[in-house]
Amino acid sequence: MLQGIAASPGIAIGMARVTDRSRVAVVEHPVPPGDVDAEVERFIQAVGSVRDDLRLIKSQLEAERGPEHLYVLDTHLMILDDDMLSGQTVACIESACINAEGALKRTLVRYRQFFEAIEDEYLRERASDVEIVGERILRHLVGVTQEPLQEVEGKVIVIAHDLSPADVLQIDKNRVIGFVTDLGGKTSHSAILARAMEIPAIVGLETATSTLKSGDRIIIDGASGAVVVNPDDATFREYLGRKQYYEYCERELAKLRDLPAETVDGHRIALKGNVEFVEEVPSLKGHGGEGVGLFRTEMLFMNRGELPGEEEQFAAYLSMVRAMAPHPVSIRTLDVGGDKFVPDLNLDDELNPALGLRAIRLSLRNEETFRPQLRAILRASAFGQVRMFFPMISGVAEIRAVKRLVAEVKEELRAGGVPFDEKIKLGIMIEIPSAVLTADLLAGEVDFFSVGTNDLIQYTLAIDRTNEHLSHLYEPLHPAILRSLRQVVDAAHAAGIDACICGEMAGDPSCLPILLGLGFDELSMSPPSIPRVKQILRRCSLAEAKELVARALQLPTAGQVDSFLRGEISAHYSDSID
Ligand code: PEP
Ligand code: MG
Repeated sequence: MLQGIAASPGIAIGMARVTDRSRVAVVEHPVPPGDVDAEVERFIQAVGSVRDDLRLIKSQLEAERGPEHLYVLDTHLMILDDDMLSGQTVACIESACINAEGALKRTLVRYRQFFEAIEDEYLRERASDVEIVGERILRHLVGVTQEPLQEVEGKVIVIAHDLSPADVLQIDKNRVIGFVTDLGGKTSHSAILARAMEIPAIVGLETATSTLKSGDRIIIDGASGAVVVNPDDATFREYLGRKQYYEYCERELAKLRDLPAETVDGHRIALKGNVEFVEEVPSLKGHGGEGVGLFRTEMLFMNRGELPGEEEQFAAYLSMVRAMAPHPVSIRTLDVGGDKFVPDLNLDDELNPALGLRAIRLSLRNEETFRPQLRAILRASAFGQVRMFFPMISGVAEIRAVKRLVAEVKEELRAGGVPFDEKIKLGIMIEIPSAVLTADLLAGEVDFFSVGTNDLIQYTLAIDRTNEHLSHLYEPLHPAILRSLRQVVDAAHAAGIDACICGEMAGDPSCLPILLGLGFDELSMSPPSIPRVKQILRRCSLAEAKELVARALQLPTAGQVDSFLRGEISAHYSDSID
C-alpha cells in the first residue's frame, strides 16, 4: 500500500502503465562568444517549436472535444511568450556565454527557489506550470520526444514522474482510467483538471515511478490517496465493492441535478459554486449549480510577471459569464495580500499579514490596479447577469469609498459609450467581526451580503486558518459564529437584501439545517459539494430548521451544538448517501 495526495476522487482498478516522463538531463557548457547569437537563435527556435506543438494540441483537442478545459494550454502559451522565461534565458546565454539548455535550467532554478519560498500551497504549485513549459523547451533543445498519452494502449492507470496539464487534457478516458504521479499537489493544474474531467488521480506520491512497474495490478483510491499494489482477493473484492458503491452514489446524486433546491415545505434556496477557472463551469453545471456565487479573481493575478490588464481581465470575466449563462455570476474583486501573494504587487513583508494590507485595503490603495478591474467587471456585466462584490469590508466608510470609485468608473464608461449594466448589484463579503457588528448599517449601502466564514471564523475566534496546531479550535459551530450569522441574516432581511454565504461551511451538508433555519437565501460552495447539500435540503422543512436553530442557539459550546446536530441529522436524514 502506497500513500500519496488525494487529487481527484473515484476508484480505479487496473493495470499500471509506467510512462517515461522523467526530466531531461541537462549539461551546461560554455559557448565561444562568436557562437552566442546562433545559440540564442537555437533557443528561440525551440520556443517556436513548443508554441507550434501546444497550438496543434489545442486545435486537435478543440476539434475533437470542444473548448472545455483548454485554458491551461493558453496559460502555457502565455508563459512561453512572456518575457520572464524567454527573456531571462536569452540574457543568460548572452551574459554567461553558455549553452541554451544550461541558461534555461538556471532560469528555471531561480523560479523554483522563488516559488518554494511561498507559503500558500496554490501559489507554490503555480511554479509547476513554468517548469512544465521549461521542460518542453528543454526536450526540443535536446531532441528527446515523449510517448503521447493518447497513444497508450488498453485500459490502464498511468504512472508518471509528472504529468503536464496538456498530458491530462489528452487523456482518453476509455484508455486511461486514472493516474498517479511522483510530483504535484492538490492545487496543481493537472490535479484541478483531473477533478474537472472526473478522472481518479493521486499526485505527490514521491516513489510511484520507482516502486510501481508496468503490468502491476493496482487499485487507486483518489479520495484517500491510497494505492494498493497487487492486491489479494479479499482486498480486491473490498475495493470493487467500494468502487461500485461510489459509482452508485454518484449516479444517485446526479439524479438530483435537475431537481429544485427546495425544502419539503416549498422553500427554495439558490445553490451556487465557488470557482476560479471557466473550466470548472461544466462540473458546476453537472452538479446542478445555479450560478457562480464566488468567482475568486485572484487566480488571474498569480504566476506571472506582469499583472493582467483590463482587456485580459475582461476576456476572462466575459468567458465565465458566457459559459454560465443564463445563470448569474458574482465576481469578487482582488483578494490578495496576507497569505495570497502576488509578486508584481511588491507587497512588503508584514508582521501580521492576516491583519495587514490585503483585499479591499490593497485595492483602495492601488487604484491603478483596482480601476482596470472595476472597468473589466462592469464591461462584462453588459453580457449577462453579473454581480460584483468586495472582500474584507470592515465598515461603512470603506464601502462608501469603494462605491465612489465604482461611480467614477461607471461615469468614465458612460462618457466613452462603453456598455455596462447600469443596475449591476454590488455586495460585500462579511468576514470581519466589525462588519457583523455593523451589518445593519452596511445593509443600507449594498444589494447583498456574502458571508466568508473561512475568514470570519479566523477573525472572530482569533484562530489563524492556516495554523495546523490550532485547527481543533477552528469551530464553525461556535456560538459566537452562529450568533454572528444570525445577526447578518437578520440585518440583510430587515433591509430587504439577500443573505448569501460562500465560506466552506456552506458546502458542509451537516451545517445545512442551521444555514437554512437561519434564513440564508443562497449557499455557494465547491461544485462537487452541491448534490449532497441539495439532498439534505430536499429532506428538510424550513419550519423544522427554524426550530432547530432556536435550540442550537441556546447551547453554550461548539461541541454541544455539533452533537445536537449529529443527533438530529441521523434521526431525520440517516438514509442520506455519503
Ligand atoms: C472566506 O473567507 O470564507 C472566503 C470565501 O474567501 P477566501 O476563502 O477566498 O478568503
Ligand atoms: Mg476570505
